[in-house]
Amino acid sequence: MADSVFLSAGHGGNDPGAVGNGLKEKDINLQTLLGCKAELERHNVKVFSSRTTDENDGVYEEVREAIASGVDLAVSFHTNAGGGNGFEAYCNTANPDGVRFSKLAEKYIKALGQNSRGVKDGTHLYFIRETPMTAVLLECFFIDNAADKNIGDTRAEQRALGVAYAKAILEYMGIDYKGNIPAKPAPSEPSKKLYRVQAGAYADYANAEKMRDKVIAAGFAAFISEE
Ligand SMILES: [Zn+2]
Repeated sequence: MADSVFLSAGHGGNDPGAVGNGLKEKDINLQTLLGCKAELERHNVKVFSSRTTDENDGVYEEVREAIASGVDLAVSFHTNAGGGNGFEAYCNTANPDGVRFSKLAEKYIKALGQNSRGVKDGTHLYFIRETPMTAVLLECFFIDNAADKNIGDTRAEQRALGVAYAKAILEYMGIDYKGNIPAKPAPSEPSKKLYRVQAGAYADYANAEKMRDKVIAAGFAAFISEE
């Protein structure tokens, strides 16, 4: 299945993953997955997800689900800790497809302004070692670094990280990215512009009142406002 992918949001439920700066890794990974999934589905890519809510989902189960999905590419979203700074991608560096996808993920994360520590061998990681398909584990930023966490410490930013990863998956699959359609009001939608009619401006309040009363007497609404 070329146009399908398995996505995993690392940790979840009782396992928060890394914590720091008031953030929990499991939440960041989930929002990243949801942002990625929506963007891929907008491009008709079939997405298998390890979880779409905050639930227990250990790496053994993730790998079992990835294998059951029968896809050619499995991507696991994580958030780093340990005092570093920047994005990292882990894959089996002996697998050219793994390296190719890792470099695409790096390219689109860098486009968000994030720095990269590069593509590294991850064959010591269970998710990469035990999956028969091309598997990549992505660490978007360091949760315990006060500066690095700024790339993803809001839900909107976490979704944007997911969109960046989706762009990498689309390019990997050879699918053109459809840009967001600019928001234009539909032709039938009435104009929201307001046109205000002014009858006059008076330095003297009594004169303003006189004009207001004339307008009201003529059958129109009128009010006095200060400038
Ligand atoms: Zn993790």
